[in-house]
Amino acid sequence: MVNGLTSASRTWSHHPPAFVRPDTSALWYLSRMSSRKRIAVIAGDGIGKEVIAQAVRVIQSVGAPVDLTPFDWGADRYLADKTTVPPDGFSMLARDFDAILVGAFGDPRVPSNIHAREILLGMRFQMDLYANVRPVRLMDASLCPLKGVEPRGIDFDVIRENTEGVYGNLGGVFKQGTPDEIAIQEDVNTRKGVERIIRFAFEYCLNHRKLDGSPRGRVLMCDKSNAMTHAGGLWQRVFKEVAAEYPKIETGHMYVDALCMQMVCDPRGFDVIVTNNLFGDIITDLAAGLQGGLGMAASGNLHPGKTSMFEPVHGSAPTIAGKNIANPFGAILTAAMMLAHLGMKAEGDQIERAVLEAVREKKTTQDLGGTLGTAEAGAWVGERAARCDMSA
Ligand code: ATP
Repeated sequence: MVNGLTSASRTWSHHPPAFVRPDTSALWYLSRMSSRKRIAVIAGDGIGKEVIAQAVRVIQSVGAPVDLTPFDWGADRYLADKTTVPPDGFSMLARDFDAILVGAFGDPRVPSNIHAREILLGMRFQMDLYANVRPVRLMDASLCPLKGVEPRGIDFDVIRENTEGVYGNLGGVFKQGTPDEIAIQEDVNTRKGVERIIRFAFEYCLNHRKLDGSPRGRVLMCDKSNAMTHAGGLWQRVFKEVAAEYPKIETGHMYVDALCMQMVCDPRGFDVIVTNNLFGDIITDLAAGLQGGLGMAASGNLHPGKTSMFEPVHGSAPTIAGKNIANPFGAILTAAMMLAHLGMKAEGDQIERAVLEAVREKKTTQDLGGTLGTAEAGAWVGERAARCDMSA
């Protein structure tokens, strides 16, 4: 037991002993000595548990030099002892781990969803993971509901501000239950928050390439500044200022409503999109639809230089949980993204290549037209990833 965190019960590792008690301070020391990366795994609720088991299997199959420590934070733990996040939980994660791999939270037995809010939003806010990065890649034309779109036509990233906007729960209700009831939900936009996410988007554009190897070159800012003039005005001013520091990067702007229409009419021109917390939430679900649905979408919650958190875009999907039918590819691609972020690009590429092959060969769950279960699809990808020759 470390720091009162009884939730972690074992450490996954490629090298025996496979299961040891989680002494995270010892892990810190060993990782520093061996340059192995330390990953906290919080599978959570519902299909989170099923898909993260497959992501872990695939990470292990490519031999990534990582130590994986599971934590049982989620509905079961909350119902057992009312713990959402153990004392010192977030500082322990920041101190003792290089990254966190998360499944999903949400369980009908906890209608208030308090554990999900405290764990997930707590991680984003208290660990200040201000940049939510959501890659949108079409692996195979068959996955896209649009006609005539080739995979290379959908290859963009949405950079969503992750710590401000309407998610701070500021506001209140007045005269509740009367005909005069007033509900106010504040939209918080700080100069610091807007500037750092916009700068992150430009840096991301500079430092990331498209799947075909060509450089990224365009940052588009999405807002609703014609209606939300105060917040939008700040975003507009800051975007122009920061863009001036990156003269080689092309810039663009779209109102969120126009962007949604463009995304379903012709998404081929998008490259890097930066936007606020709420619009980012909405357009990334829309974008997930372009790449085969929620089961295919990956995301990272980043703060450069700090411990970052990676999670599939989908939620806990209680209606399909426990049936071995959830698509594990979003979680597996999330794991690949995490490994690349931690400097293991080759392993990340290996995993992405294996998922691509699974999609092409229809070794998938039913939502993608295949016949495999969650575990079988994960096993197929794990096996293929283990022998993916990246030079081929
Ligand atoms: P939460 O409130 O935790 O976000 P939810 O059920 O409202 O959960 P999602 O979990 O995102 O929302 O899922 C919505 C629906 O999308 C699910 O009911 C399911 O039909 C489908 N879905 C989501 N993820 C997957 C997946 N990995 N594989 C297959 N279908 C999925």
